Amino acid sequence: MRGLIAKIAMAMGVLVVTASSAVADPPTGRVTSVRFGGEGNATRIVIESDTALQYHVFLLATGANRVVVDLPRVRWSINGLTAESGAGDGNGVVAGYRYAHNTATTSRLVLDLGQPATVVREFVLAGKDKDEPHRIVIDLDPVTPQAFADAATGDMGGPQPVALQVSRKPLIVIDPGHGGKDPGTMSPSGVKEKDLALGIAIQLRDALLKSGRYDVALTRSTDIFIELEDRVTKARNLGADLFIALHADSSGKPGTRGASVYTLSPGGEKRIDGVSRQHDWILDVEVDSSRPEEVNQILRDLVQRETKNQSARFALNLTDALGSSGWPTLENTHRRKSLYVLLSPDTPAALLEMGFLTNDDDVAALKSEARRQKLVNAVAGAIDVYFDTQTMMVAGMAAGR
Ligand SMILES: [Zn+2]
Repeated sequence: MRGLIAKIAMAMGVLVVTASSAVADPPTGRVTSVRFGGEGNATRIVIESDTALQYHVFLLATGANRVVVDLPRVRWSINGLTAESGAGDGNGVVAGYRYAHNTATTSRLVLDLGQPATVVREFVLAGKDKDEPHRIVIDLDPVTPQAFADAATGDMGGPQPVALQVSRKPLIVIDPGHGGKDPGTMSPSGVKEKDLALGIAIQLRDALLKSGRYDVALTRSTDIFIELEDRVTKARNLGADLFIALHADSSGKPGTRGASVYTLSPGGEKRIDGVSRQHDWILDVEVDSSRPEEVNQILRDLVQRETKNQSARFALNLTDALGSSGWPTLENTHRRKSLYVLLSPDTPAALLEMGFLTNDDDVAALKSEARRQKLVNAVAGAIDVYFDTQTMMVAGMAAGR
């Protein structure tokens, strides 16, 4: 998610950023060229500059596969064109490259990979005289997705760390509804929603951790009361890539049963800006205060739209998975509502009503360890499909498809 937003922001930055940051360090040098060579898929990247630059190269696997080269704050003057940021085509395993200023003291070159690859060689060539450029040379060879993922979990080192970014697995934040003084709904036999939600959240966490693909956090792991805004804030502070709230439903009609999946309604979307301001839910893209406010508004809208699309996509994955698992579902399984815990502007989110505590069959299913596992497997499967699809989509974007 964050990768996608960064991509959008960077793409927008190319188009709209005109003001330069007043607080930035003066450039330490000029990058004058980014060139590609190599044979077949063995790819050489040559970064030319007018001064020797300390650099730090590492693999990043958040969403798309990338090689990141962090540099001190430089002036980007690629092929004579000076700009705050820009992009170009790659070659071999590199589908394309993008560059921009990263922080007040660092600049960043991102190589979007068309296929997983790793750094097999890196060295510098000093210019022999003032007219000859200094060169940073990085050689990449294709590797399997697994080898890339393994290499991307640690950073590659380099002569001098300039800026550190830790690559990570997607973080799933599970929010067991209610808790503490708020029991939620209750079955006629006394089964409380807050207890079911927590028990199944823990089962889901264990299933996700077992897969090795994800980091997982719970908004609560005990029977405590948490305010709705604190659930969202916690997920945001952790950097959640997906937020799932677990609840159980109730109805005046005992015959009504089945799970349903909620994402934010259009009415809820209208609340996002106000609630975000109230709780300082600042987007990554808003941090650059040098941008004109109208540009930040465009970025905010883009991020919210993308988040909404991703939430809808996950809801679809989830309803599909529930359907094929045989877990009973309510008709029109995907529904929309203005739910507070779904208001985060940049965290894809859905709320799962797992069944009705007013229905005896649903209560029996939710209490049965074996049948709960079926539900948990369906949700975990939907999460897999969601992130598999996202990886393919981002790779497609990077490859220009
Ligand atoms: Zn509830």
